[in-house]
Amino acid sequence: MSSNQTDVVFFDENGLRTDQRKPDEIRPMKIKIGVLSRANGSCYLEWGANKVIAAVYGPREAHPRRMQLANKAVIRYRYNMQSFSVEDRARPGPSRRSSEISKVSREAFEPVLFAEDYPKAAIDIFVEVLQADAGTRTAAINAASLALVDAGIPMRGLVSACAAGKVGGKIVLDLNKPEDNYGEADLPIAMTEDGKITLIQMDGHLTPSEFEEAMELVQKGCRQVLEIQKAALLEKFASVMDDDEEEI
Ligand code: ADP
Repeated sequence: MSSNQTDVVFFDENGLRTDQRKPDEIRPMKIKIGVLSRANGSCYLEWGANKVIAAVYGPREAHPRRMQLANKAVIRYRYNMQSFSVEDRARPGPSRRSSEISKVSREAFEPVLFAEDYPKAAIDIFVEVLQADAGTRTAAINAASLALVDAGIPMRGLVSACAAGKVGGKIVLDLNKPEDNYGEADLPIAMTEDGKITLIQMDGHLTPSEFEEAMELVQKGCRQVLEIQKAALLEKFASVMDDDEEEI
């Protein structure tokens, strides 16, 4: 995020963005649920040029034992960016950035999980970023949400994530890489189905009225994502139903 890059052109004469999107349009999203046979639940998700895979294990006995909590499950979330996921090789292993993303993403899920029903257990969520193009933390949360459902872990509802931001003086939805690099602000959020915001971060600067506009837009984005997540679940569920019917 760098400010005042006035030489960067973000909109064409029709007001469309560099990737031909309208200001309030999200990038195309493709989802495949249940892609890993060893995980209890999994999901592969593409969002624009982002490619992420989420794997969920548990609830299972928490190890090491010192991590066990007597009254509830420990929820662990690991966001990891593969070194080949970015243009210049990313340094492998944990970083301040990945630790921060892992922490805030775990907190985004805590309100929807029934951790108190599984004392001493662990619910482990792993997300690997295979290709990064701005918006990987939100893509990861959307994939993790579906992997949790695929694992059969009871939830109060899905969690959907999206970002809004400011580029070339305008508030736009779901920043792509050039917009993220040269724009003025990036505001990723995660939201429950009933509209509770479980993650909010901001990079850059927005005035109070721009912040309000961005918040309204990003919540609309989350609701669009939610519909796509639900459609992916329905598709998965329908195919499971078909398999069952064939077996009868
Ligand atoms: P997010 O991916 O959630 O938008 P950031 O705003 O931190 O998170 O990163 C924006 C983009 O910058 C990433 O999606 C990725 O394309 C790129 N990026 C992040 N970290 C690195 C890194 N260590 N090396 C190269 N590119 C990176």
